[in-house]
Amino acid sequence: MHSFRMVLIPQCGQCGTAVTDDAGRDLLVPARLLDGALRRRLAAEGWEVIPGTPRVNRGPADTVGGDRLTCPACAGRREQAADAERRRLAADHARPRVKTVDLSAKLGEGWTLTQRAGDAERHCWLVERDGAVRGRVRRYRRAGGGFSTGWEAHALQDIYWFRQEAVACAQHRPNSSYLWSGRDLAAWGVATNPPYGADRPEWATRTRKDTA
Ligand SMILES: [Zn+2]
Repeated sequence: MHSFRMVLIPQCGQCGTAVTDDAGRDLLVPARLLDGALRRRLAAEGWEVIPGTPRVNRGPADTVGGDRLTCPACAGRREQAADAERRRLAADHARPRVKTVDLSAKLGEGWTLTQRAGDAERHCWLVERDGAVRGRVRRYRRAGGGFSTGWEAHALQDIYWFRQEAVACAQHRPNSSYLWSGRDLAAWGVATNPPYGADRPEWATRTRKDTA
């Protein structure tokens, strides 16, 4: 019987670049779950290390429970791309507002919906608080062209848009969380992130239909 011991080469999850030892040879480790000393060494060299989770780790080669690595070059490229996107978004949002709707009575002090040039044609509004963009709401565009009467809602975090699911009391269609029944309700979703079973807000209880 010969004994078999798993050896793995830790490498960049983006480009495959291997971690090397002091002599420049590929480093061999017994498992993808790395030890603290190696994590610290990699971080000091500019690698991004997302530590694995021993609780879900199913073995030495487990890619889910193991550490995930990004080499310095890939991490730098990703950060440059994120910076470029940050600048693009900031420039886009800095364009003059052509229309502003005050939603402070519905969502609280400082909340507005705004449109810039071209947004009206897209049935799109930015959800802002004190002038900072927190999300957007827009009529859903059908595949064949034309717009739904239901509204999509997206919350903005840094450079990423996250779809805000419609809660039960404000769905465009029953049992479908994809679209909200009205613009201001969609904005309410972005502003307050209500739980799925939330009550309809007071200002929306008088009528089913909301303003366009
Ligand atoms: Zn890489």
